[in-house]
Amino acid sequence: MNAVPSVGVADQTAPRPEPPLALLCELTHRCPLRCAYCSNPLELERSANELSTAQWKDLLDQAARLGVLQVHFSGGEPTVRKDLCALVAHAASVGLYTNLITSGVLMTPQMAQDLAAAGLEHAQIGFPDIDEDGSTLITAFKGGLERKYAAAEALRAVGIAITMNAVITRHNLDRLPQMFAVAQQIGARRIEVANVQYYGWGLKNRASLIPSPEQLAWMNDCVEQARERLKGLLTIDYVIPDYYAKRPKSCLGGWGRRFLNVTPSGKVLPCHAAETIPHLQFDTVTERPLKDIWEHGTAFQAYRGEAWMPKTCRSCDFKEADWGGCRCQALALAGDAAAMDPTCEQSPLHQSVRALAEAEAAAGQTQIIYRDFSQS
Ligand code: SF4
Ligand code: SF4
Repeated sequence: MNAVPSVGVADQTAPRPEPPLALLCELTHRCPLRCAYCSNPLELERSANELSTAQWKDLLDQAARLGVLQVHFSGGEPTVRKDLCALVAHAASVGLYTNLITSGVLMTPQMAQDLAAAGLEHAQIGFPDIDEDGSTLITAFKGGLERKYAAAEALRAVGIAITMNAVITRHNLDRLPQMFAVAQQIGARRIEVANVQYYGWGLKNRASLIPSPEQLAWMNDCVEQARERLKGLLTIDYVIPDYYAKRPKSCLGGWGRRFLNVTPSGKVLPCHAAETIPHLQFDTVTERPLKDIWEHGTAFQAYRGEAWMPKTCRSCDFKEADWGGCRCQALALAGDAAAMDPTCEQSPLHQSVRALAEAEAAAGQTQIIYRDFSQS
């Protein structure tokens, strides 16, 4: 595959970008779990480098002034931060919609009450499985499932809306029908059935996690039937593995168009995996105003708009639907972040990428490499 990376070309004639819709605050990379598909980078940031409470609050002020509407508090596990409630309250006070993305394993009834009092509106709880052994296999954390159920109960009791994030691998997909029932039992209004996206730790473990095309076809039917049966009762979002798609997803609504990600130490990224693209330079909120980073930061300009796109994408009817797909995936699979996303069927690499996924699913590798701070 192409091993010569090319740098994105900023469109100098492009108008000033619209304000971002959403800000993801990765408050910390600390987490008691060690998930095989964690979306955090391979080089995790240590707690000593995390932004202070005052710095996060200043960032939230800047985000609200910039026009951001939603803030997602994530990690690592965001509940390890002692100032989480203070940050939620601050976000709410400046008019931001607040969402917590959590494993749930550290949630207590008191914490749920404090979060509700702080103004938290919504929580997404990650479920690697609904079977205890299956959950432990993915997270290397025993007893997690019961804690997740308890977290859902505690959050629901104080009126915080819940989404169940069911992360799908070939280890748990047989239990998909029961996952819909669990979502209803825990009082979720929405379930996100999300196949693992293969970046970072997920990419390292792809051969041990990816389902086969036959399993995907079965999942598609299962989701379709559940959508019909649960219409009006449970919203079902569904994300398939890109490798079996005909066209790529619109990655976060397009690079530098809708979304900002801030790492624990304050680096501002166009997407959570952007640090996998080695030639990009990322600004930090402690050194440059957020508005300036969003509008003029080189990492945001690199693949914003269409000037950087390969010719096939520039002349394609779907270019404003998927914005050329995922740059991190293009780098991981084609060796060039400015190449066509190989999950697009118009890419010359599409067939080989699909064949690779099929071969890995058929080989059935079982060894898992767990997320690990010692690689940092
Ligand atoms: S994916 Fe797993 S290891 Fe990574 S932050 Fe979430 S709960 Fe922790
Ligand atoms: S050619 Fe480019 S813009 Fe068109 S569908 Fe494929 S990736 Fe998307």
